[in-house]
Amino acid sequence: MQDGCDYSCSFCTIPLARGNSRSGSVQSVVERVQGLATTGVKEIVLTGVNLGDFGLQGANRERLENFYDLVQALDNVDGINRFRISSCEPNLLTDDVIRFVAQSRRFMPHFHIPLQSGSDKILGLMRRRYRRALYADRVRLIKEVMPHACIGVDVIVGFPGETEEDFLETYQFLNDLDISYLHVFPYSERENTLAPTLPGRVQDRVRHERTTQLRSLSEKKKRHFYAQHAGLEAEVLFEDDVTNGVMEGFTPNYIRVAAKYDPLMVGELKRLRLTAVNPQGQMEAEEVGVFA
Ligand code: SF4
Repeated sequence: MQDGCDYSCSFCTIPLARGNSRSGSVQSVVERVQGLATTGVKEIVLTGVNLGDFGLQGANRERLENFYDLVQALDNVDGINRFRISSCEPNLLTDDVIRFVAQSRRFMPHFHIPLQSGSDKILGLMRRRYRRALYADRVRLIKEVMPHACIGVDVIVGFPGETEEDFLETYQFLNDLDISYLHVFPYSERENTLAPTLPGRVQDRVRHERTTQLRSLSEKKKRHFYAQHAGLEAEVLFEDDVTNGVMEGFTPNYIRVAAKYDPLMVGELKRLRLTAVNPQGQMEAEEVGVFA
């Protein structure tokens, strides 16, 4: 659908490995999705190396279409109940896309937006194409038009030059943001990238400590997000993984719901009342009816 990346983040090897950004046409993606719909697939996750950059086509990589065109076209494909947008750069997650998802029945209110650092100094060193104010604005708009939206965040800690103050700036920024969970990665040197040549290498021990601190913050954010939904009804799509007799499903806004394994529920949408978060961090739920 979309491959490659034209950006040059100083920690990333993907542009070298995958080449420039390029995509199929909206029509070609729609046809593939229509094919999947006939096989009984209910949910599709849109992925790409730099998904929001969708639309550069052909040998000349002309921008004939964009990601918003794709989202609108897919919304009209019958037979698919759910689309999720996977990781999308904040500067490419436009107002149009956010507002469209807010009124769509098929695009789920779930976003995964890489931040990488809450320090503008570090974002500059990373060669990211936005600063923290833009990120905060994306979160603000999403929550304004979809108050129950789930927002996941990627963060890298221990990037070269990240002082204790820079890390605390990131911590405070994330603590204040209305987000739902974090994916935290300790910085790791990659060959043929600029970042390892930057001054201010952060010790492995410090990278590890900062990772632990942000993972604790993530748990706090997630529990708070889940707790906001206790007592509400939601449609849950169950998956086929079973652990110790328990299966899991997801609400539109990506709350992980646990239920006693029932093979007839696999791949089914069920309307449930969310009750409480269990010690495993899953939402418990009770039945209120089955969707046709
Ligand atoms: S981190 Fe993402 S946006 Fe940056 S160069 Fe790598 S693939 Fe591109």
